[in-house]
Amino acid sequence: AYNFSAGPAVLPVSVLEEVRDELVCLPGARSSLLEMSHRDKVFVDILHDAENSIRSLLNISDDYSVLFLQGGAALQFSMIPANLLRGTEKSAAYIQTGTWGKKAIAEAKKEGAVNIVYDAADSNFNHVPSAEDYSVPADSAYLYYCNNETIQGVQFPSEPVCPDSVPLICDASSDFMHRPLDISKYGMVYACAQKNAGPAGVTVVVIRKDLLEIGSASLPGYLQYKNHAEADSEWNTPPTFAIWVLGKVARWLTNDIGGLEAMEKLNREKAGLLYNAIDSSNGFYTGHAKPECRSLMNATFVLPNDDLQSKFLSEAADNGLVALKGHRSVGGIRASIYNAMPKEGAQALADFMTAFASKNG
Ligand code: PLP
Repeated sequence: AYNFSAGPAVLPVSVLEEVRDELVCLPGARSSLLEMSHRDKVFVDILHDAENSIRSLLNISDDYSVLFLQGGAALQFSMIPANLLRGTEKSAAYIQTGTWGKKAIAEAKKEGAVNIVYDAADSNFNHVPSAEDYSVPADSAYLYYCNNETIQGVQFPSEPVCPDSVPLICDASSDFMHRPLDISKYGMVYACAQKNAGPAGVTVVVIRKDLLEIGSASLPGYLQYKNHAEADSEWNTPPTFAIWVLGKVARWLTNDIGGLEAMEKLNREKAGLLYNAIDSSNGFYTGHAKPECRSLMNATFVLPNDDLQSKFLSEAADNGLVALKGHRSVGGIRASIYNAMPKEGAQALADFMTAFASKNG
C-alpha cells in the first residue's frame, strides 16, 4: 500500500531494509546500536556522520550549531521563547498561518510579549501573506513562522521578509530538507524528524551560534540551547536510534536522490500530479490552499459532500491508497507526499482521483 500519513510518515524502503539488516548487530560492532552507550565512539561517529550529512546537504556553515534534541517540535514552541524572549524587554513577532503556528504562539505567550504581525485565521488558514501584508518591528526578539502548515497544506514559496536585525526562526517540521534552503538567512531552523527526515524521537535544531548566548543560565538545563551545543548533543542521553536512522535518510538523500535540488524537482513533480488532478476535475475536488501557496508536502482538498468523501476513502483504501483522511479542522482529504513517497505513489493517487471524479461527478 502507499501510505499518505501526515506523520509519522513513510521512510525510504532502502533505509528500512538497511535498518532491519543492521538492527540486531551493528556492522563492525559487537552489539546492537540499541544496546550501545551513547558515549561509545561507534555511536559518537554515527552522530557526527548524521550531523555532517545534514550540514553538507543544507550547506550549513560553522556559524551554526546542529543539535539533536528530544521533546518533539512542540518543545521548541517553548524553548525558543524561553531562550530568546524571556527576561528581555522585547516582543517576539509571529506570523500565524495555521494550527502549528497557533500552538507555538500560545506557548510563547507564557514566556513574554508576542506580536502577531500577520494572522490568516479568518480564512481558515488557506494562504500565506505577501511581503506588503505585514511589517516586523526592527527591535523584535525574533520573527517566527511555520514554513509548511501540515494540517492546512499551505507552504511559503520563499522565506518571509525580515529586518536584518531580527533573527528569522522557522518551524520546518513537515518540509525539512525537501529542497535547498539558504540557512544564512535564518537565526534558527528546526524540525521534528518524523515527517521528512526520520523516525519520531529526534528534533533537529540548526541555530546560529550567537543566539546560544542569549538563554539565561537560570533556565532548566535541558531547555538551554547552549548546554546542548557545548555537549555536542550529549548533555543527556540522546535518542540514539532516531539519530542513527536520520543519518541514513540524509545519506539516502545524497546518494540515492542526488541532493536537495534533485529532491525538490521530484517533489514538484509529485505535487504537480495531485494538484493537476484537482484542477482538471471540473470542480469535483476543491483545494483548501490558494494555488500560490499550495504545499509540496501535504495536498488538502474536499469533495462535494461527506458521503462522497467516505466513499473516496474506502475505495482508495481498497486500491492500496491509505491514511488519506484530512484533519477535522479542514475536513476532506489530506495526501501527504513527503520526500520518501515515490512518484509512483503520487501517480497512483492522481489516477485514482481522476477515475473517481469521472465516475461520481
Ligand atoms: N510543527 C509542525 C509543522 C508539525 O507538522 C508538527 C506535527 O505534526 C509539529 C510542529 C509538532 O510536532 P511534535 O509532535 O514532534 O511535537
